[in-house]
Amino acid sequence: MAWYCSGSTNTELIENLYKARLIKNERVKAAMIGVDRAHYAPTRPYSDSPQPIGHGATISAPHMHCHACEYLIDYLQPGSRVLDIGSGSGYLTHVLANLVTGRPGTSAPGQVIGIDHIPELVDLARSNMNKSEQGRQLQESGQVKFITADGRLGWKENAPYDAIHVGAAAEELHPVLVEQLRAPGRLFIPVESENNGIHLSSLGFGGGQYIWVVDKKADGTVHKEKVFQVSYVPLTDAPRS
Ligand code: SAH
Repeated sequence: MAWYCSGSTNTELIENLYKARLIKNERVKAAMIGVDRAHYAPTRPYSDSPQPIGHGATISAPHMHCHACEYLIDYLQPGSRVLDIGSGSGYLTHVLANLVTGRPGTSAPGQVIGIDHIPELVDLARSNMNKSEQGRQLQESGQVKFITADGRLGWKENAPYDAIHVGAAAEELHPVLVEQLRAPGRLFIPVESENNGIHLSSLGFGGGQYIWVVDKKADGTVHKEKVFQVSYVPLTDAPRS
């Protein structure tokens, strides 16, 4: 699948992801066409594969960014508030902002907060986004903010969120993130599988992570669903400086 969806330009990559039905929603397609991956992925930006961005982090593969947007799309309306945990390169934060801030000329005050625990990556995300005029404006208006913090605690200051995306594998389905969801709201999070309390990956078994989609319904009840297997870098303590 990876070679099939790659392209020689940003638009070609996104069109190929659309033809392969990895993107189904037209709004997701337009939001992704609106962000040039070359501003975020230093090498092979239009390849459908993860790329290193330094500090042990990667920009996820384009098809994973598609899955995240597709699962969250109903909660990404103009005016929605979103938290992007493990924002890394800032690419997905920018795509999410395109989905919630509406068309140029409309006044939807949607907002996306990107959190990463590595300050250098927070600076990188800011400077990546400043490479386009539109990205610069989103930051200047405060519609996108990048913050250095431990994402496992969420970001209470701007809660509740219509959508929370987690871009690194958590050891557990952190209850505080569910608390910070609006009702209705949706959390998209990769979580390590456990077997009798032991994480499969710590035993050398690969592929022990699954995406969980957690919905907080309008009446406050919570519904959790394990949707597919993935391989993300872990959500960890910040490295000591
Ligand atoms: N969505 C990003 C993914 C980056 S990789 C992208 O596509 O560019 C995962 C990121 O999670 C890394 O940048 C890493 O620094 C960050 N991370 C890991 N543990 C974290 C934590 N506890 N709090 C915040 N960010 C964390």
